[in-house]
Amino acid sequence: MTRKLPFDQKTIKEIITAYPTPFHLYDEKGIKSAARELIDAFSWNQGFKEYFAVKATPTPKIIHSLAEEGCGTDCSSLAELVLSERIGIIGENIMFSSNDTPFEEFQKAKNLGGIINLDDIKHIDYIDKHIGLPELVCFRYNPGPLRQGNAIIGHPEEAKYGFTREQLLDGYARLKNQGIKRFGLHTMVASNELDVNFFVETATMLFELAVEIYVKLDIKLEFVNMGGGIGIPYLPDQKAVDIQRLSKLIQQKYDTYIRKNSLHPLKIFFECGRMITGPHGYLISTVLHIKETYKTYVGLDACMANLMRPALYGAYHHITILGKEMEPPVKVVDVTGSLCENNDKFAIDRNLPEIEPGDIVVIHDAGAHGYAMGFNYNGKLRSAELMLKTDHSIELIRRAETISDYFSTMIF
Ligand SMILES: *Cc1c(COP(=O)(O)O)cnc(C)c1O
Repeated sequence: MTRKLPFDQKTIKEIITAYPTPFHLYDEKGIKSAARELIDAFSWNQGFKEYFAVKATPTPKIIHSLAEEGCGTDCSSLAELVLSERIGIIGENIMFSSNDTPFEEFQKAKNLGGIINLDDIKHIDYIDKHIGLPELVCFRYNPGPLRQGNAIIGHPEEAKYGFTREQLLDGYARLKNQGIKRFGLHTMVASNELDVNFFVETATMLFELAVEIYVKLDIKLEFVNMGGGIGIPYLPDQKAVDIQRLSKLIQQKYDTYIRKNSLHPLKIFFECGRMITGPHGYLISTVLHIKETYKTYVGLDACMANLMRPALYGAYHHITILGKEMEPPVKVVDVTGSLCENNDKFAIDRNLPEIEPGDIVVIHDAGAHGYAMGFNYNGKLRSAELMLKTDHSIELIRRAETISDYFSTMIF
């Protein structure tokens, strides 16, 4: 199974002369078009906005590229807020969807004019006491046993996030009494979900709630935020979510619930990370050693510090041996990194073409929750990030860590 790459072996070899492997390489065109596709699909909804989940790919040049397409940022920590601010994304272009949040972070979000999405009913008093309530408040809803979750995020009733239904109604009523006039509603009940119907059900759930909140409390919500969680086809036989269809089906529900109940206009927001950058980032690595014992191990110069999804979730990431795309798979191997952890494997029992030391390996779908989850365990350094720009040039967008970065916080 070959998967199309936006670059060829020659380009990668040229890059390696300036930037040694391992590195992450992002396809700007792919990233921009993923954002554009989502935004265009929902153009029927006035005020529709995609708040890119910074945690997926916290890289300024990438988020800047997305801002050019009209994306805001979804932040959940002080550093992510500062990152957004430094890119120039401020005000209601920021969604602050955090949990277990220190008030300094709420303060920063409020100072930037961002939309504060509360995860806990007690945070109403907490922010009122410490920083004062903002003008616009959003609550995160956790439907609990009313909804099925999925593998990564688990069952909603086991998830630490959000308000119960009772708390939600209570919270809006209290804020209304305190004079707040602008409200939003958020939920996120899936992660890496490929079933369109799942998101249509989520939209329906939020629209129904919007109606209930209107009927019971006479509050018209300004927006519903569907969260992130749109999956990508990591496996060769999976298919991407049909965004056009998703939008059409949600529009039908919008007409049924929102228009019919005079709640139009209601803005729809997403906080997608994975579906925007995931398929358009690649971890490029070189084969160091081939080891034959009870199994065959292909040892790379990258390790799980560069991409921990396979170790963390047993996730599949497609692998291409550059220049051998057309060669048949001949051998079942484990593709490993060099950490002293036996789960430091990019693939287990993968059938691949004949591999030799020096071959360049492309690990697909590493553009979201890839570099971002990196760490320094075992003295591993974070790699560089490069961007293949829309004009076909290559730009270094984050330098690799050096050994002095590693030592910079140590006290001897
Ligand atoms: C992680 C997260 C996202 C982004 O999820 P993706 O799977 O990358 O789309 C969005 N919102 C919240 C609150 C999150 O925690």
